[in-house]
Amino acid sequence: MRLFQALRHDGFDFKTAQLNPSQFHAGSTAQQGSQSHACLSLDGRIAAQWIRHHCAEKVKEWGAAHLAVILASSDPASRVYVNHKIKAFKEAGMHSTLYEISEDMVSEAGLVELICQLNDDSSVHGILVQLPLAQGISQTRIIESIRPDKDVDGFANHNVGLLHQGRLEKALLPCTPAGVIALLGLYGVTLAGKHAVVVGRSAIVGRPMSGLLLHEDATVTVAHSKTQNLDQVCREADVLIVAAGRRGIVSRSAVKPGAVVVDVGMHRLPDGKLCGDVDPDVFEVAGLLTPVPGGVGPMTIAMLLLNTLRAAHLRQHGR
Ligand code: NAP
Repeated sequence: MRLFQALRHDGFDFKTAQLNPSQFHAGSTAQQGSQSHACLSLDGRIAAQWIRHHCAEKVKEWGAAHLAVILASSDPASRVYVNHKIKAFKEAGMHSTLYEISEDMVSEAGLVELICQLNDDSSVHGILVQLPLAQGISQTRIIESIRPDKDVDGFANHNVGLLHQGRLEKALLPCTPAGVIALLGLYGVTLAGKHAVVVGRSAIVGRPMSGLLLHEDATVTVAHSKTQNLDQVCREADVLIVAAGRRGIVSRSAVKPGAVVVDVGMHRLPDGKLCGDVDPDVFEVAGLLTPVPGGVGPMTIAMLLLNTLRAAHLRQHGR
């Protein structure tokens, strides 16, 4: 795998098929249908744990890396995500510092000034600005003010360019799509020559996802809100990656029997539980499926740890 080659280049011991998929258990958000078809689970918790353990081992070898997290919104979901990230850093023996700015005090100029200070601080290896930002603040300007070698979200132009050029050894890759590729690789899913369909073309998930799949030699189709006959397009996928932010957008009739289905979507139900973009009945036809929760979400955090360590390592080696 190209991604794993790039990571091995930095000393991370990633090999394909290091994990075995287990039986998919239709969780509380799935219907308990007939189990005559055996769908296997791409368990993101297990894969993320593997990566986090690997990062903790690298910390012992290389020393701890340090992430600066900027939280400048009152969105409760953002606070939950930030808390998860900080906890994961602590568990891996890595440092993080939270810069919290209340939403009514935040200004674009103030954020840029803080980022410039962190850019110049040699003890900080990665800078993460939790999105979304308050209305009126230019997300693009804020992201572009982060030094490319500290852009551990991989959202800034420099890293986007490296990704699309296929220079994965140099790029800091966006955590969610890179996490999807790592998840597939760790469970031994072959992508070369497969038809991959990505539903969604956002800058943070769908587009980089399609780029990474291309570098893994998949044949890639990207669907979006103007795509016609979405079900038909999805049915052609050997590997279907759904990141539309629309609950239930893919149901079993849109899935080729035996396909690999990765559900990136994340929605909170009125009862507080989480579900994805993919209809629960998809497990009746898919060959491999990611659960929600416990699929892509944990991989995103694990890849943030890895990116921060990589950022420190790349800087130390002048790359
Ligand atoms: P986004 O910025 O809203 O983009 C959604 C994409 O889906 C757009 O490209 C849109 O097409 C497309 N889309 C919307 N409705 C569609 C339809 N009916 N048919 C086909 N395509 C459609 O969302 P995002 O940031 O990419 O996130 C997508 C989902 O992933 C969300 O549920 C989000 O919460 C989740 N997410 C999860 C993680 C994680 O760690 N698990 C991380 C990031 C995001 P257009 O471009 O034409 O508008």
